Amino acid sequence: MIETVITPFSTAYKVLGKKELSALFSASPDKYYKVALFDKVGFHRHKCIHCGKFFWSLVDRTACPDHEAYGFIGNPPTSKRLDYIDTWKEVESFFDSNEHTIENRYPVVCRWRDDLYYTIASIVDFQRVVENKVFFELPANPLVVPQMCVRFNDIENVGLSGRHYTAFCMIGQTCDADAEGGYWKDRCVDLDYQLLTKILGIDPTAITFVEDVWMGAGAFGYSLEYFVNGLELGNAVFTEFEGNENEYRTMKNRIIDMGAGLERFSWITMGTPTSYDCTFGPVINEMMSKTGMMLDKEILGSYFRFVSNALERTEVDLRALKTRFVKEMKISFEDLNKIVNPFEAMYTIADHTRTLMFAISDGSIPSNVGGGYNLRVILRRALAILERLGWKYDLAEIADIHIGYLKRMYPELEEHANDVRTILQIESNRYLGSKERMNSITLSIKGKKQSLSVDDLLRLYESDGITPEYLIESGAIESIPQAFYAKLSELHESHHPSHNLKPIIGIEELQPTRLLYYEHDLKTESDAKILAILENKYVILDQTILYPRGGGQEPDTGDIEGIKVLDVTKQNDIVIHKVSSSKGLSPGKKVRVRINLRRRDLITKHHTSTHIVNASARSTLGPWVWQNSAFKDEGYARLDITHHSSLTREEIEGIERAANKVVRHDSPVLINTFDRIDAERNYSFRIYQGGVVPSGTVRIVNIKDWDIEACGGTHVNRTGEIGLIKIFRTERIQDGVVRLEFVAGEAAIDYVERQDNQLNTISHVLGASKEKVVDSLRKSVEDADETKRKLKAIVRRTLPSVMNSIFKDAKVISTDGIKLFSIHDEELGEDYYISLGETATQNDPYLIFVALIGKGQGVRVITFVGELARKRIKAGEIAQRLSLTLGGSGGGNDEFGQGGGKFKHKVRETISSLEEMISQTIGR
Ligand SMILES: [Zn+2]
Ligand SMILES: [Zn+2]
Repeated sequence: MIETVITPFSTAYKVLGKKELSALFSASPDKYYKVALFDKVGFHRHKCIHCGKFFWSLVDRTACPDHEAYGFIGNPPTSKRLDYIDTWKEVESFFDSNEHTIENRYPVVCRWRDDLYYTIASIVDFQRVVENKVFFELPANPLVVPQMCVRFNDIENVGLSGRHYTAFCMIGQTCDADAEGGYWKDRCVDLDYQLLTKILGIDPTAITFVEDVWMGAGAFGYSLEYFVNGLELGNAVFTEFEGNENEYRTMKNRIIDMGAGLERFSWITMGTPTSYDCTFGPVINEMMSKTGMMLDKEILGSYFRFVSNALERTEVDLRALKTRFVKEMKISFEDLNKIVNPFEAMYTIADHTRTLMFAISDGSIPSNVGGGYNLRVILRRALAILERLGWKYDLAEIADIHIGYLKRMYPELEEHANDVRTILQIESNRYLGSKERMNSITLSIKGKKQSLSVDDLLRLYESDGITPEYLIESGAIESIPQAFYAKLSELHESHHPSHNLKPIIGIEELQPTRLLYYEHDLKTESDAKILAILENKYVILDQTILYPRGGGQEPDTGDIEGIKVLDVTKQNDIVIHKVSSSKGLSPGKKVRVRINLRRRDLITKHHTSTHIVNASARSTLGPWVWQNSAFKDEGYARLDITHHSSLTREEIEGIERAANKVVRHDSPVLINTFDRIDAERNYSFRIYQGGVVPSGTVRIVNIKDWDIEACGGTHVNRTGEIGLIKIFRTERIQDGVVRLEFVAGEAAIDYVERQDNQLNTISHVLGASKEKVVDSLRKSVEDADETKRKLKAIVRRTLPSVMNSIFKDAKVISTDGIKLFSIHDEELGEDYYISLGETATQNDPYLIFVALIGKGQGVRVITFVGELARKRIKAGEIAQRLSLTLGGSGGGNDEFGQGGGKFKHKVRETISSLEEMISQTIGR
């Protein structure tokens, strides 16, 4: 699996070790861990006799909850029984009545962070990375969010452990302690305690708070994890410090990040064998009724209690665990598997389908792009399980049941139900289509017992769609080298035109360039002052009208005082003009800068068209369409979008029609700068089509009622200026990415004119009017077919007499009767001579047949050798040698050879040397 990892953002800080941090905080428990509640209610601090961790509880305990069995299974300690949704409703109303804003969930596809594919924790919603540092931006304070989180690192435990998921809901209680409405740890823990005791009715003596630490992103803090009857329900992290262990300071805005698993909250109130039983709503029941399985609560309950306890502490082999369990329970291994395996399968399928449902709803698809690989793996995993058990479920159907259940909590899911169904069906069919081939390849790998290299694994995946996860599950390999994922993502890095200029040294001190290139009524020229010239070719100005390469948009060209500007780039906030010569230029000098306005105009139209086409593709194809990369030049534009299949002609026409409708509508293109947080809230994360913007403000390009993106490029004022958009080519360039190439504005008109000219030529050749050219072409093709058919008939009828003359004209060239027939012809085509040669050599096994046929500017060579003559000379060899003489190349097999060359004047010479050449060969 490609792991979702939070990368360390700041290298400026020495990252503290967990041990040092623990020591730091545990040394002053009263200062860090003791909250008002502990004194008020009487929680005491204890040290675990097993692991030495410190924890707080009302009753005397020697061990921390890590060593405690799941006492709640079959015996829930709460006063209420709440299913998944109802649990959330209780949590929601509790925090709502305690002055918290309830935020809608953010997408599970994390578009606002470059370092993550998926939202892996609720706090990620509110983290933004600017210049390699993490900032917290809370849309309300305090707040609670039911955030679906997606993680692929524990996939092998999903469905088996009773509590692992690839997607789960983290109740995120988030608070900026030092902003308006903020609170700190006393109130936080007090609220969580109230939620457990007053709302869920849990006996306070069952609750334990365990001391822990947290660090990351140049900040760190301490945390209290809370447990009930052995189950960790939540973890309240108090991020208080920034810096390193020797030098740290209190943050100006301290952050509370309390995350609790909704699945676990529901589980503890229900006491079901696994948390899956209460999380997936009607899904498990529906699957059970289809298979006619019964939930053996007793065995399953004690089995999963057993598994949960063992898995909590160490990495345990599940098979070994089952062996231990059957011994203890005095049942047979087979009986246990009969009860447990189908449930493990159902849980896994339910989990994987739910994750796919969320990810597809939020605009991701199984592919090789971004996190799409993980989606494909779980999808194929679910399908493989279904297949193994012979169950006839449709994943799309299961996704529908999920949506039907979850819509009370996440109403937006219904909106995308059709899209989810479409993608699941396409991908399931793809899997079924390649299944047999996959199985046979896997079997042969197993049979050979060969070990596979990373390159082998890549090839298997790329060409046969066999994931290494599939190979593991079918027992063909034992483990997946980590290098596989690194290499795979390298292979599928989105394509950006690489202009990896090495940074130019010596401009750090210069003032930022004033950017005149955004101005709407762009002048053809402007004044500027030279600030610096580096390496005799890089000119830095105080201001410029020339757009530097960026955001997929090609740079402007122009001149400085008549000296050609070859390239324009931007380094941080300084624009660099590469000139053909710096003669006559010097720092301090006032200069005139001129722009090639026609080029700029075309690029601008192509750029705005890219936004329009992107939105057209999304509205035509589906919500999974995102810009994967884009390139806008003078002559054309290229847009790569995420999509599952090649485009059909109807789809291309649909996209083009929608785009041109926007052009005709002459919509205004509004460009404004917003605080990023406002832009995201007003326009959603769809604005990040071109990737995350690493700054506090974003420039929003808003094509009214059509498309809104964060973009730093140049744009037209109204869509009508574009005139016309014409898609001229599309191609599926890789799994999950489709490329559209198109022209706009004058380039589109040129294109249409060229097409029209070609059409004129065609209609001229066909002798038909342009309007009738298609009919006429169709007729010509039919005529050609008819002619061929007639020719064949003629050959068939005249063959006996032609054959006679061949046998008569053929010259015997060896003592054992080998004969040569050769002919040079300009009139009858090669089809004729192929029929002739084949029939003649079949009738006379001693015959060698050679035809040189004039064709346009060159000569075609056709050779046949009869069955007995073949022992002495091969048809391919003759064709090869003749073609060589004729200045070309040829070849073939024993019986038939072909080739040709362009030396028409050498035909006579070739024919006359033919006999000698063959005699030499057969005389060898
Ligand atoms: Zn312990
Ligand atoms: Zn753009």
